[in-house]
Amino acid sequence: VSATPAAAAPPADLVVTNLREVVTCDPSRSGGPLGIVPGGALAAREGRIVWVGPEARLGADVTVEPDTEWMDGDGQVALPGFVDSHTHLVFAGSREEEYALRARGASYQEIAAAGGGILSTVCATRAASADELVALALPRLGRALEHGTTTMEVKSGYGLTTADEIKMLEAARRLGALQPVEIHATFCGAHEVPDEYKGRTDAYVDLVVGEMLPAVTGRRLAEYVDVFCEAGVFSVAQARRVLEAGARAGLRAKFHADEFVPLGGAELAAEIGALSADHLLCARVEGVTRMKAAGVTAALLPGTAFFLGLPYAPARAFLDTGVRVALASDFNPGSSMGLNLQLVMTMAVSQMKMSPEEALLGVTLHGAAAMGLEADVGSLVRGKQCDVVLAAVPNWRFVSYFYGVNHVQRVLKRGRLVFER
Ligand SMILES: [Zn+2]
Repeated sequence: VSATPAAAAPPADLVVTNLREVVTCDPSRSGGPLGIVPGGALAAREGRIVWVGPEARLGADVTVEPDTEWMDGDGQVALPGFVDSHTHLVFAGSREEEYALRARGASYQEIAAAGGGILSTVCATRAASADELVALALPRLGRALEHGTTTMEVKSGYGLTTADEIKMLEAARRLGALQPVEIHATFCGAHEVPDEYKGRTDAYVDLVVGEMLPAVTGRRLAEYVDVFCEAGVFSVAQARRVLEAGARAGLRAKFHADEFVPLGGAELAAEIGALSADHLLCARVEGVTRMKAAGVTAALLPGTAFFLGLPYAPARAFLDTGVRVALASDFNPGSSMGLNLQLVMTMAVSQMKMSPEEALLGVTLHGAAAMGLEADVGSLVRGKQCDVVLAAVPNWRFVSYFYGVNHVQRVLKRGRLVFER
């Protein structure tokens, strides 16, 4: 295992020692696809990593100062902070009745008739104030952080009016400032067609493109644009309109594609050069091959298939194309009320036959790529943010192998201890 050359490394203000393994997720380092450093240590300055290597090299490679903070890793495993590249974190209301109805075999229509479905969340979110949305989402973020998530994408899409979409995105912005998890917002005004536009989808797309999008970008409230490209919701042509208008306004595309039918979302993602195409349960492999050629990340959300009892995305066929595969929670009150990425990794391995290495890369380096943040987060590499999860496990594989429990003991965000069990 080679250490990062120390010659130009600035003095460290934080050193973490006594780590059983440092799982760098740096494929350019020796130590397998995850670049694992046994008996490792890491050093940071001003929130950025300056050195990662075997602890035996620390004294020779790293300059420390009298006020350098020393942290004992207690023999734990260090991993990059997890990157959740697809969530619907901000919402009001809950849908546990629908969850119970579905278990009894209720149809979509029966669920809607009983007051469930996405439009029930729209109703509750419209009725909530921005303050209420923030207060509801804060403890969810606390749960995400304690499970190792340090960076999260958050979508609008339960407002579906200009004012309510703005309200959701302002809530997301405030959440980013109130707690340690780094938030990046997506404008998803085309998440569903609201009741008042039923049967007039094109008119609703006019509203999204003509009024909502300028209002969002004028306030700099989002970095990405999303659309639910699906049979019965938004067609490929309508999705293209929204995504291209977003791109003209400076928003990068990452969108819901080919979840329930092979509509051509994967092909559209390749054609427009999206950051990611998400779900892809029914995507054609040919479309994913085009995504690979265009550098689009495939973001798979096994928690949704798990929660709805649907077949999983054919991850192996996708991986065979060489496409980069990210894994995210799709946290939302209807189809995936979970944000534990350790459990998502378990689903990826046991249900989608991804290797444990592929699963871990899915919630770290590849999650970062799905958000265009791979220069800053997703791996423990010199120059990147010192976002670190410390897990009390015999080796990194236990994080997904011993499932359904939380292995995270401590979390660092930008070199600062932000969670400790
Ligand atoms: Zn989603």
